[in-house]
Amino acid sequence: MRLENKTAIITGAASGIGRAAALRFAAEGALLVIADVNGDGGRETVQLIEQQGGSALFYETNVSDSKQVKELISTTVEAYGKLDILFNNAGIGNPDVKSVDLEEEDWDRIIDINLKGVFLGIKYAVPEMKKAGGGAIINTSSLLGIKGQKYLAAYNASKAGVILLTKNAALEYGRDHIRVNAIAPGVIDTQIIDGWKNDDRKWPIISRANALGRIGTPEEVANAVLFLASDEASFITGATLSVDGGGLTF
Ligand code: NAD
Repeated sequence: MRLENKTAIITGAASGIGRAAALRFAAEGALLVIADVNGDGGRETVQLIEQQGGSALFYETNVSDSKQVKELISTTVEAYGKLDILFNNAGIGNPDVKSVDLEEEDWDRIIDINLKGVFLGIKYAVPEMKKAGGGAIINTSSLLGIKGQKYLAAYNASKAGVILLTKNAALEYGRDHIRVNAIAPGVIDTQIIDGWKNDDRKWPIISRANALGRIGTPEEVANAVLFLASDEASFITGATLSVDGGGLTF
């Protein structure tokens, strides 16, 4: 098993990509902590892991709250003795409006969760990973954080920020044997894209806007995250791995 005896925290694991990664990590032997603001969904992920013979704890956590993230990391270390892997994955979407029409509160909320949340995860995980002799951090960016897209200013800015935050942490902590990478998913079949799915005009375009001509599954993204978390990626750090079917803007 590729993650045997590894302790991993996955944020945003109450659904979608985070849940798929949690199930994949557990099947590979990881001891998991599921962190999410959604208590029901988080506990359901734990149940699904237990049903497949794995082990997981759930901590209700808002990733934009410094105190809660600090507690998430320290409680994980108390429970399992160390922290090896952090998947900073929690995120929210953007109202479909032009930049000047975006409310300041929406800008703040999106940046707080999608970008500051990743910063806080890194801030509190790195000292524990140093103690454990190393670790792997994977951050969720997006195709849109690389290529941009109309009407999604705060989301795209947050996801572009994640890429540079990833590079910075990789440069700073490589000598501590901590690898830091990002994934950049394209359009993936989760609840975050429900708005697009319900748009009869846009969906036929969005759902085929890549080389493969289809959207991706959360499991396909989880496979890439597993690779970056595992020792198979031992010489990869500071990278952003596109998981987008050859994604295009739409
Ligand atoms: P999702 O909505 O199923 O998952 C997001 C999870 O984050 C949810 O469980 C939600 O409860 C949780 N969350 C939201 N705010 C939180 C907070 N403050 N603290 C803790 N948890 C919080 O959608 P998803 O597609 O699985 O999204 C996962 C990540 O993938 C996000 O960062 C998203 O931006 C990114 N992403 C998704 C796509 C896509 O097409 N689905 C594409 C590129 C990037």
